[in-house]
Amino acid sequence: MKKVLILGYGISGQAAARLAVYKGYSVTIADEGNIKSSDAINRYQIISGWKPGTAFDQYDLAVISPGISIHSPMADAVRKSGTPVIGELEFAADSLPCKIIAITGTNGKTTTTELTTALLQGAGYRAESAGNIGIPLSDLALELHNKTRSLDLLVVETSSFQLESMEHYKPYSAAFLNLASDHINRHGSLKKYADAKFRLFQNMNRSRENCIINRNLTNEWNRHYPDTTPVTFTSGKENADFHVCNNMLCFRNSPIFNREKISLPGEHNTENILAALALFHTIAGDTALFSEEVKKTLSGFSPDRHRLECFAEKNGIRYIDDSKATNPHSVNAALRTFGKERNILLLLGGSDKDMDFSCIAEDSKTVKQAFLYGQSAQKIFNTLQASLPCTVMDSFESAVENACRGAESGDTVMLSPACASFDLFKSYKARGERFQELVFQYLKK
Ligand code: ADP
Repeated sequence: MKKVLILGYGISGQAAARLAVYKGYSVTIADEGNIKSSDAINRYQIISGWKPGTAFDQYDLAVISPGISIHSPMADAVRKSGTPVIGELEFAADSLPCKIIAITGTNGKTTTTELTTALLQGAGYRAESAGNIGIPLSDLALELHNKTRSLDLLVVETSSFQLESMEHYKPYSAAFLNLASDHINRHGSLKKYADAKFRLFQNMNRSRENCIINRNLTNEWNRHYPDTTPVTFTSGKENADFHVCNNMLCFRNSPIFNREKISLPGEHNTENILAALALFHTIAGDTALFSEEVKKTLSGFSPDRHRLECFAEKNGIRYIDDSKATNPHSVNAALRTFGKERNILLLLGGSDKDMDFSCIAEDSKTVKQAFLYGQSAQKIFNTLQASLPCTVMDSFESAVENACRGAESGDTVMLSPACASFDLFKSYKARGERFQELVFQYLKK
C-alpha cells in the first residue's frame, strides 16, 4: 500500500486525507498543533505537535496544505527524507474528471470566479466554483468520483499559496487579473509573490488563446515567459482583446453588453467582468459570447457580501462594508469607486502581511479622515500621515464611532481595511458583520 503524508490538518488537509483514503493510500497526518479529533485518530496515523528539527520517515508522497509554506521547516524536513511534496490543489486536480478554469490575481478572484461560473451555467454548462470558495477541491473530486454529482467544468479560484507548491497542474484556460503588494510575509518579496502566481501558466500550451492576462501585466509575463506571447489581453483602460468602448464591453471592437447595466461598481470590476468574459469565451466560443444568455447573466449578477457592500444610507451619508479589502491595492479600488473630494471617512487597520501601504496615498484627496486601528495602526500612520489626515484609535469600536460622528451629508463611511482581520476577528466576514452592527447601533441613537 502506498503511503502519503498530509501536512496540516485544516480544512483542505482533512479533505486531502479523505481523498487519499479513497485513492488507496495509507494516510499519516502531521501538524504543528495538537490533533484532538477522535475521527482523525481512529482513521489515520497522527504526528501531532510536530517541532522543527524532528525528522520524518520517507513516504511515497506528501501533500502540503495551502496554509503551510513550501519553505517552512516542516516542508524542508519532509524533502530531506526524500519524499516529494505536492500541494492539495494538485493532489485533487489530478483526480478531477472535468476541465479546470483557473483564476489568480491579487484582487478580484472571488468575484471573477463566481461571474465566470454564472456565465457558464447561464449558457447551459454544468459548472461550479471551487478553490478558496466553497468546498475543498479534494472533497469535490471525491463527490465526482462517487457520482453524487457530475460536472463539465470547474472554475477554480487559485491563490499564491496554492500555486507556490504547484508542479503539474494544467488548467484548460487561466486568467491573471492584477498584481500588487500582498502576502509578503509569506513569500518574502513582491517578486517572489509574482513568481508563485505566474506558475499558473507554466504547464499550459502558452501559444493558445487560453492564457489571459491584464494588459498591464505584459512586462511581468515577458519576465516569466520571454519566448511566448499570451494571446488574450484584457483591459478596462487600453485597447485589448476584451476592452471597453463607449461604455460597452467589447470583444475585439464588437460590443457584448452595456457596462452600466451591471451592478458591480468601479473600474476594477470592469476588469473582472472582462476577464470572466474572456474565460467564458475559451469554452463557449463567439456565438455564445454575444448571446442573450450572457446579457441576462451579466445584468442579474451581484457580488458577494463585504465587497463594497453599501448596507445603509441615512441623512445623506452612505455606509460601505468592504471588509474583504485585505490589501492596500483593494483600498485604492474602493476609493476610486466611491471617492470624490474629501468625502470618505475611512477605517483602516488589522494584521499586517509586511505590505507597503504607501499606494493608498495616491487617492489621498478622496479621504476626509482615516481612522486607524489594530495591530498595523502605527505602521499605517507612519506611512500615510504626510499624505492624508489620519488618527490612531485605541479600538475598532472607537474607530467606527468616530468615523460615524465625523460624517456629514454627502460623505461615505467606509471600512476598507487594507489588512487581514485576524488580530481582532476570526475572519473578514466577522469583521464586516461587527462593523455593520456598530453602524446600526450608532444610527439608532
Ligand atoms: P479576492 O478573492 O482576490 O480577494 P474579491 O473579489 O473577493 O477578490 O475582492 C476582494 C477585494 O478586492 C474587495 O475589496 C474588492 O472590492 C477588491 N477588488 C476586486 N477586484 C479588484 C480589482 N480587479 N482590482 C482591485 N481591487 C479589486
